[in-house]
Amino acid sequence: MEAVWSVTLYLIIFLYGIFIGSFLNVVILRLPKKESLTRERSHCMSCGYRLAWFDLIPLFSWLFLGGRCRKCGQPISAQYPIVEAANGFAYVFIFMNAYGLNAYGMFEYFRPDTVIFCLLASALLALSVIDFRTYEIPVGFNVFILVLGCANLVYRIVAFGVRGSDWQDYIIGFFAVSLVTYAIYYISQGKAIGGGDVKLFASAGLLIGWKLILLSFFLSCLLGSVIHLARMKISKAEHVLAMGPYISAGIMISVLFGDRIIGWYLRLFGL
Ligand SMILES: [Zn+2]
Repeated sequence: MEAVWSVTLYLIIFLYGIFIGSFLNVVILRLPKKESLTRERSHCMSCGYRLAWFDLIPLFSWLFLGGRCRKCGQPISAQYPIVEAANGFAYVFIFMNAYGLNAYGMFEYFRPDTVIFCLLASALLALSVIDFRTYEIPVGFNVFILVLGCANLVYRIVAFGVRGSDWQDYIIGFFAVSLVTYAIYYISQGKAIGGGDVKLFASAGLLIGWKLILLSFFLSCLLGSVIHLARMKISKAEHVLAMGPYISAGIMISVLFGDRIIGWYLRLFGL
């Protein structure tokens, strides 16, 4: 019986994730163009057909229609279902990371940081796609992540007390990578790393602390160099590198598996 409950709860979290994911698609599309996020109904990019409610069910409408517009049959970008599914799975992984296979645990002891990390995942997902397309991280995302960082700090101090909260780790986290990357930004005059990337390391550092933001930095450099070199080989992709997606991936890997990775690394050296 408990297993049925768990599966149901995780399914609800997944559905919630894909609904937020479809909102992220609107943000990704309209924010760089400074359009209103709420005013206009979504429409087909080819024929202008205004989507009905049954065309707007995240993930499932796209799958059901085979990735094509109901009216004109033109293909609809796979970015929509990919962002929705990615956001859904991110929410499930974050909750599984906190409660394991027994989702029912969240009713016994709810951890507000799971919600904070879900919001972080959504912000990272949206800013990654925008950065990938425009080479720019809108500053609003970094403000949002900074607010999440403050909320997390308040939660930790309330829940664990000033001494048990390790609040210093988070303050140091704000500066740990951002100072170094700011120096690189300053010396290279913005050519080696973007200002938005530096701010992302600062805001995310406050949220996840210095150990995990350092790990995120190493992971993003590793992912960035390997994947970008591969892409340049395969598709002759342009040499400009949008770091946002790699930094975001590094942060999410650190949030989900960072403690395990650091523990494993330290054991390697017998520490
Ligand atoms: Zn159409």
